Amino acid sequence: MRTATTQLGGTGELNWAGNYRYGATAIHRPRTVDVVRALVSAAPKVRAVGSRHSFNSIADSSGILISLEDLEPDISIDAAALTVSVSGGTRYGTLAAELGRHGFALANLASLPHISVAGAIATATHGSGDTNGNLATSVAALELVCADGTVRTLSRGSSPGFDGAVVGLGALGIVTRVTLDIEPHFEVRQDVFEQLPWGTVLANFDAVTSSAYSVSLFTDWSGGTVAQAWLKSRIPDGGTSTGAHAAVRTGFFDSPGGAGGPDPASRTFFGGTAAPSARHPLPGVSAENCTEQLGVAGTWAERLAHFRMAFTPSSGEELQSEYFVPREHAVAAIGIMRGLSEAVTPLLQVAEIRTVAHDRLWLSPAYGQASVGLHFTWKPDQEAVERVLPLIEEGLAPLGARPHWAKLFTADAAALAPLYPRFADFRKLAEGMDPEGKFRNEFLERKVFG
Ligand SMILES: Cc1cc2nc3c(=O)[nH]c(=O)nc-3n(C[C@H](O)[C@H](O)[C@H](O)COP(=O)(O)OP(=O)(O)OC[C@H]3O[C@@H](n4cnc5c(N)ncnc54)[C@H](O)[C@@H]3O)c2cc1C
Repeated sequence: MRTATTQLGGTGELNWAGNYRYGATAIHRPRTVDVVRALVSAAPKVRAVGSRHSFNSIADSSGILISLEDLEPDISIDAAALTVSVSGGTRYGTLAAELGRHGFALANLASLPHISVAGAIATATHGSGDTNGNLATSVAALELVCADGTVRTLSRGSSPGFDGAVVGLGALGIVTRVTLDIEPHFEVRQDVFEQLPWGTVLANFDAVTSSAYSVSLFTDWSGGTVAQAWLKSRIPDGGTSTGAHAAVRTGFFDSPGGAGGPDPASRTFFGGTAAPSARHPLPGVSAENCTEQLGVAGTWAERLAHFRMAFTPSSGEELQSEYFVPREHAVAAIGIMRGLSEAVTPLLQVAEIRTVAHDRLWLSPAYGQASVGLHFTWKPDQEAVERVLPLIEEGLAPLGARPHWAKLFTADAAALAPLYPRFADFRKLAEGMDPEGKFRNEFLERKVFG
């Protein structure tokens, strides 16, 4: 059989963060879809694993794991339909480079390009932007190897259950190919502003997040200011921008900022000032790992992620959690988090606030509601983090906060089900496609099937 296999024999392999050791018996790396099919039909318990960037046990199996990293990316662009089809194990960085070579783009990226396409969409991974849905909303079709080893294609608009299957948490099958929407290539400039007074940001929250194509606010919830605002602005067709002064030419500083918005003369933004040099979101860390800033124009692929493909993303020694609230509750949610600062800030490296457009994918945290994501990059002390998570979850519960599936959270199926109008439909879909529970693991039993 054309597959490389690592027997784990109870010793396990670690996820990217090193905080979770997979309990599966083996990891197979097939080189063809036919081998994926044979492995799935023979295994009583099996799941797909992507690039292992999740922070919990979501990807694990009590049987075998299948990684698609040895399958060729086999990237195929349909310029007329504006779609690209790609093997599920392909990393966004690889896909982005190929799209760039052909003059095309994805609408958005997460903070890092290192993650696999299938793994990211399975967990509703997202970037930022009031008009940007999470990465799963770009999916036009999925090819899955189902529990009986057959291959099935689900397409947007024509396959029943498609909206449930995209953010599938690995519960429906092994996603071997994904078709994604693309658009013509575009350029982006990235500008960082520092020390924005909270009062100004909260009084103008909608104006702040709509000031650029993608806006991220970094904070540790303490003190009176937002430490950094990262603005990723699309450069209008035919525009060029080569640095600070080009801002005026591209109209960046004329974008709708409202009172206190971007000021071309003083280079201020809602009371914050332009960073004089490139910044890392983590205080005191070199910006070498980060995508270029200071208003220098670059391709979408070189600006939309925060971190560069060839470098370690984020700090590398960390844990993460994230909660999504309907965007109309953003200011209230931020107030709650600032109120919890005494307990939360000492465990934090940094927190990030991003916006996500609403969608119709059943298990997406942005299902049916434009959302704001409150993200936490924790110091790598899981015991302490797990002590503080219930505080955050209780605090945000009245706002209907939905946790990121791939990060650390404590809520179980009983708490999650009321938050998702299509939760029961998802269970039914999974039970129909996988009646023997081959793709279920302990995480799904606890968090979804209850
Ligand atoms: C440094 C860092 C930065 C991050 N930044 C962001 C961010 O900006 N935004 C954000 O939303 N998240 C972010 N994340 C979280 C990350 O996007 C998610 O963990 C995502 O799921 C990672 O994809 P993966 O390929 O590593 O999946 P894995 O962790 O390997 O798997 C995750 C899930 O996907 C399923 N899966 C994987 N491959 C397949 C397949 N072929 N078929 C079916 N199911 C499959 C697995 O079974 C599992 O359920 C970050 C994580 C790290 C470590």
